[in-house]
Amino acid sequence: MSEGVYENTDGFEDNKSNAMKNTDIDGQLYGNVRAFKPRPRDGVVASEPDSSGKRLFLVAAVCLGLLCVLLLAGIIGLSVYYNRAINDSEDKRNSLFQSFSLYKINATEERDQLQTRYNNLTEEKGHIQAKLFVMEQHCQEGWRYFDSKFYFLSTEKKTWKQSRQDCLDRGADLVVINSREEQTFVFNLHLRAWIGLNDSVTEGIWKWVDGTPLTTGYWAAEQPDDSGQEDCAEIYYGQDDPVKTWNDDKCGTNHNWICEKEE
Ligand code: CA
Ligand code: CA
Repeated sequence: MSEGVYENTDGFEDNKSNAMKNTDIDGQLYGNVRAFKPRPRDGVVASEPDSSGKRLFLVAAVCLGLLCVLLLAGIIGLSVYYNRAINDSEDKRNSLFQSFSLYKINATEERDQLQTRYNNLTEEKGHIQAKLFVMEQHCQEGWRYFDSKFYFLSTEKKTWKQSRQDCLDRGADLVVINSREEQTFVFNLHLRAWIGLNDSVTEGIWKWVDGTPLTTGYWAAEQPDDSGQEDCAEIYYGQDDPVKTWNDDKCGTNHNWICEKEE
């Protein structure tokens, strides 16, 4: 069988020995190897068998590094964005809190002002109700109201001294006329009545019942004339001029009278 391997295709047997045949085959194989494997001495530079693998590894490492850098940049960017969003959120929350605090302070002040105003109005309402009660009571007793004063018109007639005592008993006194307006008001009561003025202490020196001297008098024409020692003053309705209506008369004469008292 082994001999058939060295048979020629033309069917003739080779006359060389087997050793020689093997030598020839080895030489032929070596020649073929030399033909396919260049060597440095042949003028061809041989490349390293694993250099392309290193290059691929290097590229992969670079790509991985770039990816890491990109990921790191992304994480940093997200962190900055997140921190900025948190800061903005805190700023808005602080701003809202300050606005709410300010609103709360204003609301509290406004509530206190309204409460104070309500208390004042309640107190004022109480005063008005009390005042209305007093006014109603005085009106029922025959008093008139003018410029924060009450005036009582008598229906009886008495002397000046008796008239004053009646006023004192009512917690008042004979009327003291301090102004033109008050004079007109008293004149329009349509009475001939005693007023709280006399010159009993010193003739010609007229004084009011509250001790003040007369400064402005509304005497009728040619009065006071002290005709027969007239030391007490009366207002005399029926004169043409409402500010010229006073007369001095004898204090023992009986007249109506007008009391006055504070509100
Ligand atoms: Ca008066
Ligand atoms: Ca007179």
